[in-house]
Amino acid sequence: MTDRYTQAVNSGFTKTLAKKLGLPRPAILRRYRAGDPLTVGPVLVVADGASKADADALAQALLAWDVDVRRQPTDDVRWGAVLLVVTEAAHPTDLAEPVLAVGSVLRSLAPNGRVLTVSRAPVDGDSPALAATRNGVDGFLRSLAKELRGGATGNGVVLTDGAAVDAPSTLATVRFFLSAKSAYVDGQLLRVGPAGPAGTDLTTDRPLAGKVAVVTGAARGIGAAIAKTLARDGATVVCVDVPAAGEGLSRTANDVGGTALQLDVTADDAGERILAHARERHGALDIVVHNAGILRDKLLANMNPGQWESVVAVNLAAQLRINESLLAAGLEGLHIVSLASTSGIAGNKGQSNYAFSKAGVIGHTRATAPLLAAQGGTANAVAPGFIETDMTSSIPFATREVARRLPTLAQGGKPVDVAEAIAFLASPAAAGVNGQVLRVCGQHMVGQ
Ligand code: NAD
Repeated sequence: MTDRYTQAVNSGFTKTLAKKLGLPRPAILRRYRAGDPLTVGPVLVVADGASKADADALAQALLAWDVDVRRQPTDDVRWGAVLLVVTEAAHPTDLAEPVLAVGSVLRSLAPNGRVLTVSRAPVDGDSPALAATRNGVDGFLRSLAKELRGGATGNGVVLTDGAAVDAPSTLATVRFFLSAKSAYVDGQLLRVGPAGPAGTDLTTDRPLAGKVAVVTGAARGIGAAIAKTLARDGATVVCVDVPAAGEGLSRTANDVGGTALQLDVTADDAGERILAHARERHGALDIVVHNAGILRDKLLANMNPGQWESVVAVNLAAQLRINESLLAAGLEGLHIVSLASTSGIAGNKGQSNYAFSKAGVIGHTRATAPLLAAQGGTANAVAPGFIETDMTSSIPFATREVARRLPTLAQGGKPVDVAEAIAFLASPAAAGVNGQVLRVCGQHMVGQ
């Protein structure tokens, strides 16, 4: 499960050799550690014309987090991040000046630096010029992200429904993208609406304190990392997995100081049992992470009914059934996060069953979002690309090596990268992010 190539080209003699031979050198990504600064250097906030007022508001918020904020590029700085604020840009010509100002400092962006755009989503009734400008930011950001080096990433915050730049969910999203928690999130534009609790402390180390979370498929891999990350952030975690994975399940539950629930998520009464366990043992249920998933890869021409049906049952139908019982229970402020996959977005040879199930997850997430919003909750999905786990270590070596090098970051992600995105989406401050799919894929080239 280790990516020896990335380690080798970043240390000792093999690093020198790789440099000499001009081999690709994926960077060692900076990941979150409590107490580390938010960014690796000062943050430059760039805006032009009518967007300057929003840039001022964002700069104020960053200053309140003790970030070294600058408004003018200077030559003597290794930038930790550059924030391009184009919320009020109305015509494509408005972009030239601020975009080129960002370009002028990119050579001084530090390894593991960040570039963030903050823009507004096009809406029905926009003039063609306004719609072109707003949509143009998408193509710009995705291309810029592909040009960054040294583990630096580019992501965008796209405001919807008149959300303010300094609304809690906007700031929570800006903070997530700036931080090391988004190490493997690259080239993504996340839509953020105005919902979100005022007065939330976005700098706390324990944003999930007092919350009760359920994680399915928690015995190993990504699920175990999700359980650990939610617990680190203060949640009490119920770990769910099949009886056959009992040993790993107890290990995770012990590691996180939570409880274990042996349960096959395809059971008819899975939703009721999850709810009963959470309420009886911990008095509440605030977060559900649908992570349990299986692969049964076959070309469709060779696929038997069991291979299709089992994947759909575990990856999709179980989530639907559990969500139905949770919705029926009318829980206040419930945050559901489901595991999709980039295969469900772009398609993948040999995975028609899996891709159906994962695209289905994206479909039900969008449909569930407004139902939960009525009770102050959210439903979102995370779509991992290639993540180093037991699941992917079963892929033949050559295919695995290709999959690792395809993304812009030229490496697979770690389970914790997916877990950090889920912890962010499950946090109260992210209430304005609803019905979205966040890819954690190092900017894998396939799909939109
Ligand atoms: P994994 O196989 O390592 O772990 C999956 C866990 O789910 C196991 O502990 C398994 O026992 C459990 N599980 C399976 N069926 C279950 C059932 N019916 N009831 C309860 N638990 C069940 O997988 P992983 O790589 O950690 O993947 C976790 C999730 O992330 C899956 O939904 C997967 O599709 C998704 N995903 C993974 C990758 C990747 O690269 N690893 C990429 C995209 C999406």
